[in-house]
Amino acid sequence: MEARGIIPRSELERLALASLPGVAVLVFDPELRITGCCGSVREAHGSDPEDLLGRLLNDVLSPQSYRRVAHNCRIALRGQTTIFDVRSQRSAEHILELKTAPLRGDHGEVLGVIAVSRDVTAERSAQITLRDCERRYRLLVEESSDVISRQTVDGTYLWVSPSVEKLLARTPSELVGRSIEEFLHPNDRDCLRRLLTSLAEGSADLRHTHRMRHQEGGWLWVETVLRGLRDPRTGQIVEIIGAGRDVTAAVLAENALARSNADLGQFAAIASHDLCEPLLLMRAYADLLADEAADRLMAADRNRLEVISRNATKMQGLIDTLLTYAAVDRKTVGHERADMTRVVDDTLALLEARIAASGATVRRGPLVPVSGDARLLGALLQNLLSNAMKFCDRPPVIDISCEKAPCGWFLVVSDNGIGIPAEEVHRIFGMFARVEDAVYPGLGLGLATSQRIAELHGGTIEVESEVGVGSTFKVLLTTKRG
Ligand code: ADP
Repeated sequence: MEARGIIPRSELERLALASLPGVAVLVFDPELRITGCCGSVREAHGSDPEDLLGRLLNDVLSPQSYRRVAHNCRIALRGQTTIFDVRSQRSAEHILELKTAPLRGDHGEVLGVIAVSRDVTAERSAQITLRDCERRYRLLVEESSDVISRQTVDGTYLWVSPSVEKLLARTPSELVGRSIEEFLHPNDRDCLRRLLTSLAEGSADLRHTHRMRHQEGGWLWVETVLRGLRDPRTGQIVEIIGAGRDVTAAVLAENALARSNADLGQFAAIASHDLCEPLLLMRAYADLLADEAADRLMAADRNRLEVISRNATKMQGLIDTLLTYAAVDRKTVGHERADMTRVVDDTLALLEARIAASGATVRRGPLVPVSGDARLLGALLQNLLSNAMKFCDRPPVIDISCEKAPCGWFLVVSDNGIGIPAEEVHRIFGMFARVEDAVYPGLGLGLATSQRIAELHGGTIEVESEVGVGSTFKVLLTTKRG
């Protein structure tokens, strides 16, 4: 092969790559003069081969491209091969990947440079998009306040997001290579092992709450969602991705609530046994005395006995209502399909006498089945209907219906009663909260009990009201467990 002279084109085409689309081959002598070219020369370099042959590289390239190409050609002349990108002379948007290698003679001596160029515009733009995408996801993962981690199937950390420093006061590198078990509370380790096994056996996402040791001592409650990452070829779980967040405050609040519920339950037990019995006796003896000694008693004494009996009855009512409130706890809530038409029918039947006495008109809109405890939903409805009749200074007109909510249904009860002053609305769901205790009888526990029932169903209760016009209570019943 003659490197000083012009190499015949046909010879080069035979040598390599001319038939590959987008690929061009150029040969330079040691002065960087183009001594041969073939392949997609026009597409790649914007000139016909005849116009390039015999010209010096710095005549045909932009100064910037020339510097790059010349630098790599010099490396090739020293016997090494390099690969690099340059902008095409045809158009700056096109990117060429150039491979420059020494062109050797029959005895291995370097005669010049052979450069193979390939159009990689589409490839590079796909790589940039991919890199951008990766950067965005990385940012998302790294900036997330949740701790994201990659773990082996047996729970060894492979990667942990920087937010772990905020959670456990440890750097990611302190965790990588160590098992999650080392940081778990001993009582939670078995549970985690079971979860990992079940993930490996093909379970989908798993959510669990466990205690993790904080670097400075103490335990944090962390809720974690684990997901198995499968090898697309074998279907085997090869890694586990975890996302964990600190739920200590919520767990402590729930525990405090459980304790206070237990206290309430205990109080209820004491109230039912120890308070009711003396109360019954008190009332019975007061009534007995009023009957048997009626002719020996002064009118004022008879009045006093009546006050004793009336207050004993009132106290009995208070205890009964408190017991009802205390009886509504998480354990007692069933989550079946509750047919609201049935619930409304049963509640209206229970209130039949009061409805008749108050002259109330009760109208029903559409009612749907919801997920919940029919017995407790009936108690809630009974409270709302009783109030609608009680807090009313004209014949009550009450509407009951179900309305679609974004994540479930609203049970809606509206009335034409006296309404609730705006400044009182926020406190009427509290225990013993009343607005008008002088005029209307009551203990202020009905709405507190209703709120408890709604919350145990994972829902809420709210009211819109206008004094003198009426009130609308909306109970949100979600489909998830409370
Ligand atoms: P109670 O009925 O024993 O007073 P509740 O907890 O059921 O207790 O209600 C608390 C307070 O909210 C009531 O005392 C009353 O002032 C107000 N309220 C409740 N329901 C209505 C209603 N439908 N219309 C007007 N006020 C109401």
